[in-house]
Amino acid sequence: MKPDEIDAALAALAGRGLFRQRQTLESAQGANVVVGGRSRIAFASNDYLGLANHPALIAAVTRAVRHYGVGGGASHLVAGHFAPHEEAETALAGFVGREASVLFSSGYLANLAVITALAGRGDAVFGDKLNHASLNDACQLSRATFRRFRHNDLDHLAHLLSTTEAAGRLIAVDAVYSMDGDEAPLAGLLELAERFDAWLYVDDAHGFGVLGDGRGSLAEASLASPRLIGMATLGKAAGVSGAFVAADRRVCQWLVNRARSYIYTTASPPALSAAVLASLEVMRGEPWRRGHVLALASRMQRELGAAGVAVLPSRTPVQAVVLGDARRALDVAAALFDEGFQVPAIRPPTVPEGTARLRVSLSAAHSEQDVDRLIGRLAVLASP
Ligand code: PMP
Repeated sequence: MKPDEIDAALAALAGRGLFRQRQTLESAQGANVVVGGRSRIAFASNDYLGLANHPALIAAVTRAVRHYGVGGGASHLVAGHFAPHEEAETALAGFVGREASVLFSSGYLANLAVITALAGRGDAVFGDKLNHASLNDACQLSRATFRRFRHNDLDHLAHLLSTTEAAGRLIAVDAVYSMDGDEAPLAGLLELAERFDAWLYVDDAHGFGVLGDGRGSLAEASLASPRLIGMATLGKAAGVSGAFVAADRRVCQWLVNRARSYIYTTASPPALSAAVLASLEVMRGEPWRRGHVLALASRMQRELGAAGVAVLPSRTPVQAVVLGDARRALDVAAALFDEGFQVPAIRPPTVPEGTARLRVSLSAAHSEQDVDRLIGRLAVLASP
């Protein structure tokens, strides 16, 4: 790309309904957000439990900032690993039932870390076709042979595993697919990992906090194996920022020693780890939050299905209404915005060509009335 090619490329994106613009929020996340001075019912964030603005998290951050200041100041290995980081790692590992965990400044960095630390030249990595972009980027960056299997197709994966020569193998999947809301067949994947002597790396960004009594998809499936590595982000249901990888202690030690996106980046502010500890307390103490958001999800499935709207099957807070054409998705999102709703249009390359959609994110902060109002408008605007 040369400098004078950028204008034409941007114009081409705009011509295809693929130009992206950011909305600026002027409030906290919650059932309602303020955008451009106007209040909108918010169905766009991943704040599934409504914790991003919870008083207990705000109090914990405030206390920790007074004690530790704001910036982490250095990478974890140099001088940036604080007491709240250490406590949060122990608490998170205990919460999901693993020996140890390692904190990362973001889920993207965690995915880069694990895959590049465990797979390299001569190895092979296997990823679901609908994996999150950060898993795909990590697989590319690892320099291992990268094979993608058809979405949730265990037979296709078994075929690729048996026909790909490799020193070591790693299978990487989302537990809950971020743009569809459906789930990976975790037990079948672990069986294949055992059979082909592979690691199974599970990104539970959208299940943690919501499924398995909040402990996530792997806990819900009761899976345990030394070859199983779990990751969850802390910027979604947990309401904070960052991510953690949970696994056997030796895997965590290997990441701390070898993962470049862990070693060469500044530690997240310690106050955020204090917020994570508070978030775990709220998840334990306010189970109604996950019950409520899951009930809203089944309400949405039932009502949209009855209205003939093309909602993808999902029991999770991720509810995808597929519209097909990118411009139609933009038009419907704009019409909803005018009527008081913030719902994002998700277009290629985030989703496959021809499957542009509205991605409705539900939250424990929503009331049934909020959701019913949206369902009523979708029944009109998003019908085939
Ligand atoms: N994995 C999945 C499945 C995600 O949806 C996301 C965030 N959208 C990430 C990883 C990246 O996490 P983070 O935003 O913390 O970088």
